[in-house]
Parts: sequence; C-alpha cells; structure tokens
Amino acid sequence: MPRKHNHWTRRGFLKTAGIAAAGSLLAPAAHLAAAAGEPNKIPQRPFGKTGIDVPILSFGGSLNTSLSLLVLRQAVKWGVTHWDTANTYMGGRSEKGMGKYFEKYPADRRRIFLVTKSHAWTTKGMSEDLDLSLERLQTDYIDLYFMHSVSSSSELTDDKKAWAEKKKTEGKIRLFGFSTHSNMEECMLAASELGWIDGIMMRYNYRLMHTDDMRRAMDACSQAGIGLTAMKSQGGGQVKTDTESELELAGRFMEKGFTDAQAKLKAVWEHPNIASICTEMPNMTLLMSNVAAALDQSKLFSNREMELLRQHARETRSDYCTGCTRICQPAIDADIPIGDVMRCLMYARSYGDRHRAMTHFQKIPLRIRRQMEGLDYSPAEQRCPQKMAIGKLMREALAELG
Ligand code: SF4
Repeated sequence: MPRKHNHWTRRGFLKTAGIAAAGSLLAPAAHLAAAAGEPNKIPQRPFGKTGIDVPILSFGGSLNTSLSLLVLRQAVKWGVTHWDTANTYMGGRSEKGMGKYFEKYPADRRRIFLVTKSHAWTTKGMSEDLDLSLERLQTDYIDLYFMHSVSSSSELTDDKKAWAEKKKTEGKIRLFGFSTHSNMEECMLAASELGWIDGIMMRYNYRLMHTDDMRRAMDACSQAGIGLTAMKSQGGGQVKTDTESELELAGRFMEKGFTDAQAKLKAVWEHPNIASICTEMPNMTLLMSNVAAALDQSKLFSNREMELLRQHARETRSDYCTGCTRICQPAIDADIPIGDVMRCLMYARSYGDRHRAMTHFQKIPLRIRRQMEGLDYSPAEQRCPQKMAIGKLMREALAELG
C-alpha cells in the first residue's frame, strides 16, 4: 500500500536524509565550533534545592575511562563537568581512569561534579566501597554518593540516613542519594517523603515520561527539592521507519537537523526539573553529538512531534521493559530478576554491547539461571503492562548470554 496520509513518504524521507547529510545536520556542529574556544558553554540547571548548578549533560562513565582521557579533557573544555561512575563499572577501571585524569589535571577536580556509587546493601559495605572509590579516584571527597540500583523503598532505611550524615560531617561526601532502574516511581515517591535524599538518578525517557506514575513521582521529587538525573534516555534502540508515524517522526527530526538520538535527549530536557542527562560517551563522536544537542537552544518539539513520540512508544511498547518488576516478579513461582534480565537484553540488542550484557547476566546466581528455562511465565505476561513476551525473552537471554 502506498503511504498517502502525510507528506512523509519513504522517497521524501530519503530525499530529506540526503539533504540533511549534506548540510542541515551540520548545524549543531556550528554551535560546537563556536563553543570550542569558550569552555563551559553547556547550559546548567539547579540540582534540586542543593544550591549547586550542574551541566545538563553528564559524562556516563560505565567504561574503561583510562582509554578515554582525551575525551574527558575535551568534555571539560565543552562544559561537561558532571561525571558519573560507580565502584563496579568495568571492575574499577572506570574510577581508576578518572583518578588518572585528576592526577594529571588536579586543578580540574574542583570543576567536576563527581558522582560514584556503591552496590553494597550495608553501611559497613558502603564505608569500605567509599574509601576504595576515594583512593581510586584520587580525591578526598565525592560530590554525590549513590546507593546503586535501588529497586525498593525498603532500602531507604534510617541507618543509611545516619551513614550519609556521618560521611557528610567527615567531609567524604557532599550529597547522598540513589540510582534506580526498577520500580523507579515507587522509590522516588518514597524518597520525596524522607527529607534526606539529595539526588536520584533514574531511568527516564520518552517512553516513561508520559505515564501518570512517573509524572506523579517527578512532581513529588521536584517539590521535595531532590536533584534529578535522567539515565537510559534513549528508551531502547533507534526509531525505525517501519510505520507511518515512525516515518513522519524520523523525517521531522531529520528536517530540523537532529539525529533521533539527539532528539531523544531534547525530549528529556523538555522537563525543567531534569537537572542533567547521564549518558555514555566513549568517543569524541558521541561527545560532539551530545554536546551539540545540549548547546542547541531551539525548541524541538511541537505538540504534533510529542504526540508522534508518544504514538511510537505505544506502537513499540512490547519492545521495551519499563522496569515495573513489582508487577511481574511476584507472579511467577521463583525468584527470577526479570527486570535485570530485560536490561541485559537491552544492553545486547539496543546498545550492541554484548560484553556488558553477558557480564551483568552472569552476575545472576547460577541456581537462579538454571531455574529460568522451565518456568511458566504466563501469569507474569498477563500482568505486564507492556505486553512483553516474557517467557520467550527469558529463554532467548539464556541462549544468547548464558
Ligand atoms: S517485563 Fe513487563 S511487568 Fe515486568 S518489569 Fe518489564 S514491563 Fe514491567
């Protein structure tokens, strides 16, 4: 069937793509060229009520940063002075690489808003992790310290509060909070009531931003003055051109001179209380592309484009796990971390990062991986709001990553 409902025919799209490749996608590069001689041009936003402003783009350090020292140097020049790492990233090589950078450029330490995380679930473990992180990062303080990957508000206990206060008094951390990949909305709502969480980094993208639960959680955190950092901002893989709405969406982005990855960043920045987007930038090309999007102040989204993005999210919802594990995990007769397995598949399939996918997958205890194959997932599938083929995906994960 010929496409006839809008002017975005496949031929029109390809023609625009050709024009864009020749010229209009270069527009953001002009911003970069202008900024190259004037560091710190990336816009900044307040980080909640902390009194600290942070750049709207954060360097995601889930990589061996000692191989990216030039990228880090250029990031600082362009104002990407919010850096995110964790004690577990690349077996510690992420923190060590940033430490190498600070050893070489010690004056830059005060310019960087440095975030790292502990995966320990005890205050003793967090103390040990923090001291190790300080040593690896070659610094005497962390700007924002996170409990890593909180998935239930039951982790936000009074002993963690007392720990955070003690470490602040000792001068080892300035701010405290958590990152969350699963049940983000529940964790955010609970945090907004506590009064001792300074910052949260949560999954947030064009698929999640329009749900009622996420809107409520964002409002509550904003009112509580919690600084918010978005991660996983791409919401899965590239926008394809398989349906009419995708074709129109891709064509509109292209016409305005943005890649779909840049457009997805801009969709997240539309929320004024997102202080920063944390995204991986392992090479200069990605750094340039993201910095160009951050420097561009034009409003990308009309109501029509936002609606198209929502429609795309609806049409492809069974491709994207929204991390609501409180819904599916209790429905099956075993302790399978469905959300974690879905994340591994996302690393392998959407990011093309098979190594990371396998590393994460193999952290799931063997006893549990053995249980995964023969289970009946249909009760979980019936409850899944994204209508994901959970059983099929669990078995595919075992075959591809096990
Ligand atoms: S599989 Fe479905 S129910 Fe489970 S976390 Fe993902 S989206 Fe939520």
